[in-house]
Amino acid sequence: QAKAAGRNTQRFFDPDMQAAVNARSNLEADLRQGLARAELLVYYQPVVDHQARLMGAEALVRWRHPQRGMIGPADFIPLAEQTGLILPLGQYVLQTACAQLQRWSRHPDTAGLSISVNVSARQFRQPGFVAQVLHQLKSHGADPRRLKLELTESLLLGDIEDTIARMAQLKSEGVGFALDDFGTGYSSLSYLKRLPLDQIKIDQSFVREVLADPNDAAIVRTILALAKSLDLQVVAEGVETTGQLSFLQLHGCEGFQGYLFGRPGPVADIDAFLHPAG
Ligand code: C2E
Ligand code: MG
Ligand code: MG
Ligand code: MG
Repeated sequence: QAKAAGRNTQRFFDPDMQAAVNARSNLEADLRQGLARAELLVYYQPVVDHQARLMGAEALVRWRHPQRGMIGPADFIPLAEQTGLILPLGQYVLQTACAQLQRWSRHPDTAGLSISVNVSARQFRQPGFVAQVLHQLKSHGADPRRLKLELTESLLLGDIEDTIARMAQLKSEGVGFALDDFGTGYSSLSYLKRLPLDQIKIDQSFVREVLADPNDAAIVRTILALAKSLDLQVVAEGVETTGQLSFLQLHGCEGFQGYLFGRPGPVADIDAFLHPAG
């Protein structure tokens, strides 16, 4: 009798594990529904040059959950990647960014701004990704030269020839590429040289302690020197203090993103950045 009950109730799961499995599948169902119900939205964070002039913005997805409130990407992007929901989600962010670029193109103040969009490896590798990006640009009438796709070093673990071919096709249409979270992954420097990149983004984990930790300072200086010799633009992420900014500027960094300049927010915040009140 005990044996039969055991078979039916799957007692080999411990309760914590079962709870985790349930929570995960609830979240997956919620996210699927959230996409259908337009609960996902795109925030924008300013990216500025060495004179704190706006160069563009990074598109960062948020989920306005009906019960749980605003949820950041760290809490649902990994699940979206595991379940494949990253494909419709990524498509949504891309389409929103293209529509925004088109709106910005109509005003001289904003026509020169670019938008950076994060692309996960799974999304980049899906068949038809290149065609999908070009279709979104075209159907929204957005200038490909204003779109930058942010890739991570995890792509370098996959088929490198395929990666280069996809990037080259998009680049020939004007689309730019940034390598995100640089220094945290497994970049082989010889691969780095082969990728048709425009920009690398120094991960915020190195910027955070750059004044206090000599190792982080050395890493940041090395990345800046490397980028210079490879002729790549650099954006430092997570710039929160003027001290960090001065260090980065002293060592030749020319692009900055962080709370010092602005947090991710609705697109209206970008207009406010350009036209401060008072
Ligand atoms: P990321 O692409 O490296 O984006 C930068 C993250 O750093 C953002 O977190 C941003 O809010 C945060 N940040 C910016 N400045 C500062 C600062 O001064 N201090 C601190 N402490 N943090 C700062 P967020 O928005 O939570 O996004 C986290 C990650 O989620 C992103 O990291 C990106 O990898 C991923 N992500 C966001 N949106 C998308 C998307 O549409 N598609 C995909 N595939 N991934 C996305
Ligand atoms: Mg990014
Ligand atoms: Mg990053
Ligand atoms: Mg990051």
